[in-house]
Amino acid sequence: MDERPVIVWFRRDLRVADNPALLHAAGVGAPVVPVYAAGWERDDPWRPGSAGRWWLERSVAALAESLAALGAPLLVLPGTAEQELPALAGRLGAGEVVWNRLLEPNVRVADARVAEVLERDGVATRTFNAGSLFEPEGLFARSGRPFAQFTPFWRTCLSLPDPEAPLPAPARLRGLGLGGGAAASMPDQAGSSWRPGDTGVVWYPGEPGGGQRLGEFLDCCVAVYHSGREVPAIDGTSRLSPHLHFGEIGPRQVWEAVRRVEEKAWRGRRGLPADPPPGGAADPTEGAESFLRQLGWREFAQYILFHSPWIPEAPFRPEFSRFPWQDDPAGFDAWAAGETGYPLVDAGMKQLLTEGWMHNRVRMVAASFLTKDLLIPWQEGAGFFWEHLVDADLANNTLGWQWTAGSGPDAAPYFRVFNPALQAGRYDPAGEYVRRWAGPHTPSRPIVEHDRARVRALAAFHGLREGRS
Ligand SMILES: Cc1cc2nc3c(=O)[nH]c(=O)nc-3n(C[C@H](O)[C@H](O)[C@H](O)COP(=O)(O)OP(=O)(O)OC[C@H]3O[C@@H](n4cnc5c(N)ncnc54)[C@H](O)[C@@H]3O)c2cc1C
Repeated sequence: MDERPVIVWFRRDLRVADNPALLHAAGVGAPVVPVYAAGWERDDPWRPGSAGRWWLERSVAALAESLAALGAPLLVLPGTAEQELPALAGRLGAGEVVWNRLLEPNVRVADARVAEVLERDGVATRTFNAGSLFEPEGLFARSGRPFAQFTPFWRTCLSLPDPEAPLPAPARLRGLGLGGGAAASMPDQAGSSWRPGDTGVVWYPGEPGGGQRLGEFLDCCVAVYHSGREVPAIDGTSRLSPHLHFGEIGPRQVWEAVRRVEEKAWRGRRGLPADPPPGGAADPTEGAESFLRQLGWREFAQYILFHSPWIPEAPFRPEFSRFPWQDDPAGFDAWAAGETGYPLVDAGMKQLLTEGWMHNRVRMVAASFLTKDLLIPWQEGAGFFWEHLVDADLANNTLGWQWTAGSGPDAAPYFRVFNPALQAGRYDPAGEYVRRWAGPHTPSRPIVEHDRARVRALAAFHGLREGRS
């Protein structure tokens, strides 16, 4: 048997269950060396922001604990993968380096370089899918071009065979006995001074925390998700986004768990024994279906980024490069501090600054305010979110911002300018969310008058359509 060690390179797949690269390595029979490369290229604009680094540090520590318990301690190395992996493979005489693929364009380029160097040194490489339900390579619209709209994309995905069942965690790993020499904590430069505020929401970064969150959501909320998801004052959504982003739980695990809840509900309907549906929903599968559709948006975001790798910087619709964006530092600062005078926007920004998370409905309203009421480029808002969200994710954040700004695929129609006051009335009618977050700090005078700002935005969009700007 080949006794040369197998290196498992962890990135945003910080879990031991449903981890195909890890399970493959365990099956080889040779010693397994799990590695996390904690360094970033100096010029990498997509290094995690401060909230993301806070999360990452804890997630890596949780992974290290799980791996140590399985028998193969995690080696955390301070440099980039390109610097560290070939050197480590050489030092250990590794036969193979394996990892799970990511879809971000810059990551794919770096991966190809790492693989090239390793293979040149005679080390085999092998990659797996752990992060998506439906990989984006072979999926195209009837025209032969990539999908640019969610509904046909998702309909096509759902016509494919179901995603594979999640894989078990390895029962045991044969480590290399690197023992006390192995560092399992993140180097200082990867740390962050960000801390979540004391708001009652407790984040548990790491695989056990992700599993627990999913379980709680399935018990309390999935059956009524379709109605609860639009109410920012309640815990109607899963809050799984940071866990999914860092791969502490995989989409196949979530998919399967939700399907199981659905099956149980259907069995209950046919008169077979099953617990009553939580929340008393009339159709117990409606919430689950609505939730799986949101996982579909996550797939769509990854798909769009894969096929249009320029979109974190430039508009998906090229005509938007002519949009008359404004330079408005004072407006940006007021928005970022939650001091626009529009309570729902301000409450959302305060939730973001405190929890590192914001409800989806409020993300849309806050993003619309920045891009349409203030005409500030969506890239500036996306950058701010990147720094402050614990779930900052290049695919989802880019799609969310471009969709709201009108420049993205399947975007909100250009004439749809969210009215922050009406949105508050509809989705937070009792003002509970606003009171919790914006409290008394909101200045009474709005920084722009929405009706006037809307007319200005519509004129700008109209000019774009007419080719005048
Ligand atoms: C301007 C803007 C920026 C955003 N930035 C991010 C980001 O950086 N990271 C991020 O994960 N999501 C982002 N979203 C999407 C969405 O707001 C969050 O995924 C969601 O609020 C996370 O909360 P949850 O886990 O409770 O979601 P749930 O409603 O419980 O949904 C379950 C999962 O589905 C996925 N999902 C849900 N909605 C979307 C969506 N619209 N697009 C893509 N995936 C979705 C997420 O992985 C989420 O965890 C953004 C949306 C907007 C409008």
